[in-house]
Amino acid sequence: MKLNKLSPKTIEELQDYILLKRPSFYHSSKTSTVIPYDQIEECLEKLNVAEFSMVNLAELPSSMELSEDGVLHVEGPVTWQEAKAYCNSKGRDIMTSPTEELACILAGFATSATGERCFGFGTLRDQVESLEYINSKGQIATLDASKALEADSELLKYQKSYSVYCSLKNAPFPRIEKETDLLTGTEGQLGIITRASFKTTILEDRSFLFIKLPRWEDDYSKHMEIFSKVQSFRSSIYSCELLDSNSMSVLPSEERVIDAGDLIFLEIQSESFESVYEELISKFELIDENEMFEMPAAKCHNLRMNVPRYTFERNFRMGVVKKGTDIQVPPEKFSELLDLYRELSSIGIDYNLFGHFGDAHLHFNFLPDKSKVEICQEKLEELYLKVKDLSGSPFAEHGIGLIKQKFIKNFLDDEHYAVFDKLKNEHDPENIFFPQGFLNLNRSTD
Ligand SMILES: Cc1cc2nc3c(=O)[nH]c(=O)nc-3n(C[C@H](O)[C@H](O)[C@H](O)COP(=O)(O)OP(=O)(O)OC[C@H]3O[C@@H](n4cnc5c(N)ncnc54)[C@H](O)[C@@H]3O)c2cc1C
Repeated sequence: MKLNKLSPKTIEELQDYILLKRPSFYHSSKTSTVIPYDQIEECLEKLNVAEFSMVNLAELPSSMELSEDGVLHVEGPVTWQEAKAYCNSKGRDIMTSPTEELACILAGFATSATGERCFGFGTLRDQVESLEYINSKGQIATLDASKALEADSELLKYQKSYSVYCSLKNAPFPRIEKETDLLTGTEGQLGIITRASFKTTILEDRSFLFIKLPRWEDDYSKHMEIFSKVQSFRSSIYSCELLDSNSMSVLPSEERVIDAGDLIFLEIQSESFESVYEELISKFELIDENEMFEMPAAKCHNLRMNVPRYTFERNFRMGVVKKGTDIQVPPEKFSELLDLYRELSSIGIDYNLFGHFGDAHLHFNFLPDKSKVEICQEKLEELYLKVKDLSGSPFAEHGIGLIKQKFIKNFLDDEHYAVFDKLKNEHDPENIFFPQGFLNLNRSTD
């Protein structure tokens, strides 16, 4: 397998490269968990790919500008961390917060990134005003979020099937309703995003309240009390996150904040803390106030970020590709999802569970050695079959990439493949943008 790599330094250089019409994969910070960057050659050989070109977008020029109406305009490889610092310096804040802040914002559109603050602020897809991208003709084109796409009967069918999942962050297939949806969640298969304009919010003080809980595997009734009661506080609680006891164990001992049990933390608008205390916290029936403590924002953020990072590092050390989930289910099915995870927890392979608890969206990660990888894969395949019955989304934020393609087919029907084919034919007729991506799944299996 021949692997080519290049890093254009200007937009014009990138446009010229696109005009050469070489099938390529375009990446930004390479934090995607569904592209096996460290084992890419091995993975592509298995797919019988003879040549693969990786184009690094992280060396293009970048800039940010905040307009008076609070819309942030981002060009080039700006990270979430940089944009947050820039907005904060001007009294504004970003509403989307992927845990991995070194990821790039434009890539965040490509993957339809979400994160902790989705609980309070909704999805990036709905915060965007416009996107600019380079199309397959090498031209820069603009997409407007206020413009609906024209829908023929095929697209209408597709949109109807999407409606089952419309309360979830991301369905098993991208939303295709507004112009900006074309480049949102399509993982760089229809063009290369060069600029995004999206809404920010006012910068406010926030308090981080941690609640100690028993291990969910033994008893999740207290967890579920929090889950059901926080739902009506989304205007003053921005995040509701779980770190289970096994997540704490992947951390170096000096970074662990409790010795046993699980933690749920709430990011609460400080201005509303008293009312949240009176109307929510003091009314918990199963949870004692002595089991709660506060933590400074920066420490909380580091803790939250380090759990997936050390989980990834542990898998890397064991030489295995991530064997984890990104499943979100409707609220009324959440305890059924926890029961499925409980079954997985009892098969004798190390694991952890963490994530966006308030949104019924959790990451269960097997932590196997190489000898257990096959069984993990089988168990995950069985799990995804059951997730379909729960009307859940199998990949609510990390996307499909290369790693999750095996699991997605069960969620797709003819109406999805018809629209995927049409999108590819219309926007990428020479198949130059990430040809191994999910939009071509039907064609590659034919
Ligand atoms: C520790 C950790 C925590 C994470 N937490 C979250 C989380 O909370 N929420 C979340 O959503 N994700 C999370 N992720 C996943 C990942 O960070 C996101 O998917 C992120 O959007 C990827 O950004 P990137 O710059 O690394 O993109 P890359 O990995 O470089 O690329 C990802 C995809 O986007 C495409 N792409 C990249 N740039 C462009 C562009 N300019 N135009 C078109 N297509 C492009 C690529 O082709 C590829 O398909 C996490 C990952 C890690 C490692």
